[in-house]
Amino acid sequence: MTKYQNYIDGHFSSETSDRIAVHNPATGEKLADVPDSDTATVDAAINAARRAQPAWERLPAIKRADYLRQVSAKLREQAEHLAKIISLEQGKVMPLARVEVGFTADYIDYMAEWARRLEGEILSSDRPGEHMFLMRKPLGVVVGVLPWNFPFFLIARKMAPALITGNTIVIKPSEETPLNALKFAQLLSETEMPAGVFNLVCGRGEGAGSALTMHKDVDLVTFTGSIDTGIRIMQAAAPNLTRVNLELGGKAPAIVLDDADLDLSADALVTSRLINTGQVCNCAERVYVQRGIADALTSKVVERMAAARYGDPLSDDTLDMGPLINKAGLDKVMAIVASARDAGADIRTGGQRAATETGFHYQPTVITGCTPQMEVMKKEVFGPVLPIQVVDDLDEAIAMANDTDYGLTSSIFTRNLNAAMKACRELRFGETYINREHFEAMQGFHAGRKKSGIGGADGKHGLYQFTETHVVYMQTQ
Ligand code: NAD
Repeated sequence: MTKYQNYIDGHFSSETSDRIAVHNPATGEKLADVPDSDTATVDAAINAARRAQPAWERLPAIKRADYLRQVSAKLREQAEHLAKIISLEQGKVMPLARVEVGFTADYIDYMAEWARRLEGEILSSDRPGEHMFLMRKPLGVVVGVLPWNFPFFLIARKMAPALITGNTIVIKPSEETPLNALKFAQLLSETEMPAGVFNLVCGRGEGAGSALTMHKDVDLVTFTGSIDTGIRIMQAAAPNLTRVNLELGGKAPAIVLDDADLDLSADALVTSRLINTGQVCNCAERVYVQRGIADALTSKVVERMAAARYGDPLSDDTLDMGPLINKAGLDKVMAIVASARDAGADIRTGGQRAATETGFHYQPTVITGCTPQMEVMKKEVFGPVLPIQVVDDLDEAIAMANDTDYGLTSSIFTRNLNAAMKACRELRFGETYINREHFEAMQGFHAGRKKSGIGGADGKHGLYQFTETHVVYMQTQ
């Protein structure tokens, strides 16, 4: 079995003998073990990133872009192998794992393209003969703490904007899915990227994660994961006043009005709910359907969900989904569905652990007769479960959609332009999708409101989260 090691200062090494086992969620089989890093290892990684940063910042951005493109080229060469690692440790079906690898390489290239587009500003002064320049500078050392659901893409979402703007980075992957990140580090080590610019430390949240986020020599912690962990990270960063960028959970509402295209709506809802076995922060988690079309839409959704195919994510079949990530994920889904059933909701399809021989599979499930008080309408399920509630009109749907602590994404299905624009004005979410499934683009801005996060990622606005401003006042005669 390969001995996996951290990647620090351009070398693979493991100072600690403690290890974390990594399992295949489709079979329960142990795949490997990785370092459970201690505080000394975290220090070594941060110190390496700190030492490498000034020289990295001094490089012309276009040179930093060259290094990033070497990494994306390596990922493309190894795309099939990388997809297989993601599928094995995360349970993602192979077609989606391939998309994740391709998107990751494209994202790195997209961020590299900003090299010649990073701009400061020249401001007009109140004083004669004075020139004012607003410069944009890197923050310094960035820590990126990752979840397991899009483990490979999230590396790029953190490292590419950090590096192109002149920061260096230490990444901690989820303890559930470190193997794809270790392969990423190996491929990066085969490029000319200078030592210390990109570092990877494996470990548990309470151990390495906590040590990274409370470290005094870190300038930004960028985190993607659950709300509870986001709160702990903000607390850990507070004594040093370290900046945080938090991409947290969601409970995305989808509103379907009487005039909607029902087939389009049903297709989009089901695609959105089944992708990655429902384990996606931004995808439809609750549906508000207008009374006149409620039965017709529900039948179409039930038919599509019941027909969804699941099984071994590595299989050559085109499956709609694989297993859930682990037993805790499965238990959570089962408990939320049971509580909806107990509260009087109807399970229209699914509602059971799937009868596969191994693994944490759960049946695609549709629940009707839901009310706002039910846990399934309030709590992030993170599984292939779609609860539906009937509403009388758009106002009621918007009020219910907004009645939540979350604020990541939302959607509306209608042919009425006024209704769509009213929803955009009144929905308190970072994103709204009109007549399409929930899923963001790399040139957009993915940012949650309320407890779904602070700051955001992607596009120009995401890039500038990795910079700070420096204003220069130059007095001339
Ligand atoms: P999680 O919060 O359990 O873990 C995420 C990471 O945080 C892991 O690497 C973990 O080791 C680390 N961690 C845990 N405790 C820590 C601590 N005290 N200090 C520092 N690090 C710690 O989340 P998860 O289960 O891996 O991911 C699922 C969650 O992520 C869902 O809620 C989902 O909605 C969210 N998510 C959000 C986005 C987004 O863009 N908003 C994207 C993907 C996933």
